[in-house]
Amino acid sequence: MKPKGVINWFVILAILVGFCLPGGCEGEPRGDEYRVEQTAMVRLIELYGVTEKRILQAMNKVRRHLFIPASYRWRCEPYGDHPCPIGYGQTISQPFIVAYMTWKLNPQKGEKVLEIGTGSGYQAAVLAEMGVDVYSIEIVKGLFEHAQAALAAEGYETVHLLRGDGYKGWPEYAPFDAVMVTCAPDSVPPKLVEQLKEGGRMILPVGSWNQRLVILRKKKGKIVQEEDLPVRFVPMVHE
Ligand code: SAH
Repeated sequence: MKPKGVINWFVILAILVGFCLPGGCEGEPRGDEYRVEQTAMVRLIELYGVTEKRILQAMNKVRRHLFIPASYRWRCEPYGDHPCPIGYGQTISQPFIVAYMTWKLNPQKGEKVLEIGTGSGYQAAVLAEMGVDVYSIEIVKGLFEHAQAALAAEGYETVHLLRGDGYKGWPEYAPFDAVMVTCAPDSVPPKLVEQLKEGGRMILPVGSWNQRLVILRKKKGKIVQEEDLPVRFVPMVHE
């Protein structure tokens, strides 16, 4: 073969490998091709101060790249400590924030936790991996379907999913031990407080531009609320 022919074949091969590396080619067995990056991500979360083993173990297990829709995977380093686009103008949360909110909410094995904003399904998978009984609501049909498929493919069929408006909560399954909201309302949605058990906890970002994480507890029917980190989440929209 002429040298030019060899170079052409080399270029074609490089392009094919380039396409396949980020997420694995369609039809290939889906392995652990991001093991090094995933380990580094978990190490970073630990260095940033979330040291609870069960959270780190769950985040070391759940394969974040498979929760980012395939067509978006190449645009973003899936194990970098940043949000990634997942379509419909939405994002999968930054890994440190996933770990931090989980740590602050402190969900226990067997507890019933309501998540508002399923998005990619990643946070739901992390909670399920910790043995939590997860109920998650997503308003965007396309994301609801994506999360449903991704969770099933990764073996998290026990996560209960609903396509609907998170402001209404999920009264059929209330009360919940804990509620985690992963989109930002302007104020704490009253229905979600109502659906919290006595002694229950809730964590959510509140605000439009300047958002704060709010941690809330229901104690003897009263609400005790504290403000935490400044954050940036997508808005919680009304249907
Ligand atoms: N927890 C997600 C991050 C989701 S981003 C993950 O791990 O990937 C926030 C999500 O909240 C988006 O998917 C958005 O569509 C959804 N959302 C916004 N308003 C909502 C509402 N009123 N009810 C339910 N979901 C809502």
